[in-house]
Amino acid sequence: MAYLYHVDPYRRSFDSAVVRCEPLDGERMAVVLEDTCFYPGGGGQPCDLGTLDGLAVEEVFQKEEDGPVTHVLRASTPLTGRVHGEIDWARRYDHMQQHTGQHLLSYAISQRFGGYSLGLHVGAQDAYVDVRTELESVGPELAAQLEADVDALVAADLPVRQFFPSQEELAALPLRKAPPFHPHLRIVHCGPEAVACCGTHLSSTGQVRLVHLMGSARSHGNLRLFFLAGDRALRHARLCMAQAQAAAAGLSCGLGNLAEMVERLKAETQALRRDLASLKREQALARLRNAEALVLGGVRAVIETAEGLEPKQLQEAASALLKEGAGLVCLAAPGNAGVTAVVAADGPDAGAAFRALAGRFGGKGGGRRDFAQGLLQGFGRDDALACLDAWLGDKAR
Ligand SMILES: [Zn+2]
Repeated sequence: MAYLYHVDPYRRSFDSAVVRCEPLDGERMAVVLEDTCFYPGGGGQPCDLGTLDGLAVEEVFQKEEDGPVTHVLRASTPLTGRVHGEIDWARRYDHMQQHTGQHLLSYAISQRFGGYSLGLHVGAQDAYVDVRTELESVGPELAAQLEADVDALVAADLPVRQFFPSQEELAALPLRKAPPFHPHLRIVHCGPEAVACCGTHLSSTGQVRLVHLMGSARSHGNLRLFFLAGDRALRHARLCMAQAQAAAAGLSCGLGNLAEMVERLKAETQALRRDLASLKREQALARLRNAEALVLGGVRAVIETAEGLEPKQLQEAASALLKEGAGLVCLAAPGNAGVTAVVAADGPDAGAAFRALAGRFGGKGGGRRDFAQGLLQGFGRDDALACLDAWLGDKAR
């Protein structure tokens, strides 16, 4: 069969005869054609999708090199005779941009730090290449150098040749690692170097347009470099520019000062948060000092929520209120982990009062006769008041 994707990677449609069509599960057929434009996937590049006679091709694969390409088609009746095939060109062109971009990036990597590229992965959103190297990561400086190296290859708009060389041609190619010759050995001569590769590529380096490094990480003993190439990279760059411009306009600063401005605003916000927390504490303390004392079971009681107070400040406030004549003080401050509650008492048993509250709201804690503290699962002033009133009433009986 003719692999038209190797003959002309830019061919989007074709007509061919059905060689075999077998039902898979009542809804899908496995179709083999005489010729196909559908790349079956390989070398990290996903397979093509598209249509055969208008029916969706959902998967394409090739079990062995030089074997037939199988198209998995959404169809309930077998296809016969000649069919018209169309590949999803946007998907294929994107894959060609990622794949050719990876070749340029791999060349730059080999030149910059001698890393040997092991494998490519192209996903719907991300792409990465695994590189054999001891390097832990690619920092901003090295990333900028690699990107500039690729930029130069893109700007030079060098031809990309993908072909099956003769033994003599193979010997003359700038291969870093020469593979053993065989008639089906496919070579991609992309810019300054040639490598064995089965994928589909652009016909010139200029069409890669842009390669942007997104980050790196160690993976299975190798360095994994995440990148965007082609229109993906340009879309990302435009998104970043639009966001940066909007942010700079919002902050009334130049694009070049954006990062500095963000740092300054972060520091200012932290200082304001601290000031606000301190004001809230002062306000809460002032409110507690003016809190109305109730008389429960003959005891002067202060029961209040005191948002924003730390446990130590709750203790200090409770002691102050006791000194001012209260017999029972219960203060509660809601936080992330629960409600911190302190009970201070002069007369009633503070530990027992806390246990009564824990029985009502859930939570744990405890303490002495004059002071108890813990974490409750909830707190409501009216409920706490009713609970302590009942508890004092029970004690009186
Ligand atoms: Zn390739």
